[in-house]
Amino acid sequence: MAYTVVFVHAHPDDEALLTSGTMADLALQGHRVVLVVATDGAAGLAAVHASRRDLAAVRHEELEHSAQLLGAAAVYWLGYGDSGLNAEVLPQPDAPMPLVYAPREEVVGRLAEILREEAAAVVVGYDSNGGYGHPDHMAVHEIVYEAAAAANVPRILEATLPRDRLARLAHLVSWLRFFLREFDPTMFDDAFTSREAITCTVDVRHLAGVKRDSLRAHASQASGGSVPRTVALLLALPLWLYRRWFGSEYFVERGADAGATSIV
Ligand SMILES: [Zn+2]
Repeated sequence: MAYTVVFVHAHPDDEALLTSGTMADLALQGHRVVLVVATDGAAGLAAVHASRRDLAAVRHEELEHSAQLLGAAAVYWLGYGDSGLNAEVLPQPDAPMPLVYAPREEVVGRLAEILREEAAAVVVGYDSNGGYGHPDHMAVHEIVYEAAAAANVPRILEATLPRDRLARLAHLVSWLRFFLREFDPTMFDDAFTSREAITCTVDVRHLAGVKRDSLRAHASQASGGSVPRTVALLLALPLWLYRRWFGSEYFVERGADAGATSIV
């Protein structure tokens, strides 16, 4: 039986970082994989793009390319503004409305319409921490639950990471001195999800190459700023290491038993 699984992400490149292996795996199994991205991601740094509008256009193209690599059957770009890591992007007359300032009923209504039209069997959003606390990710967490309820989607999953694994990665990253300027190794203490709360772990080691290609499609995120970007760092890893570190993807389904290995 083929299902439609809708992945809702906050920014272009979040799909590559969190759920790309699962998306590619489902598409290969014949399921209909749909990608919804809420914002244009134009608050991200990128050295080569002078204007915000240029950057949004580039990120849109990159997203389409990534979605194609993952076998997504449809991509919906909601086109809200990226609210920034500290919700510092305020509404401007000639820029898209930052997601956190957009009327919530409107955003929920638009997502619910997509879920109905696609007859989604499963919708995937984020954990309640919004991963590492980005306001757009926290908004997506709430929007997905509300829209899924409105559209009667039978199953809701939260894409996440086990926080102990992240803490180890963060330690390694700082050891490699590739850290971001504001990097604080304790920032993951309350981020994402404890390992005990994860209900589904999908083995995507065989798709490490596709995962990395999907991330590579977001080339604008690998440059810009005065410090090496996380994306550039990840792309520089050899494939065997990429496979080892990113060979599993993690989900939480409220009320489900732990130990699932597939989200459908
Ligand atoms: Zn994001």
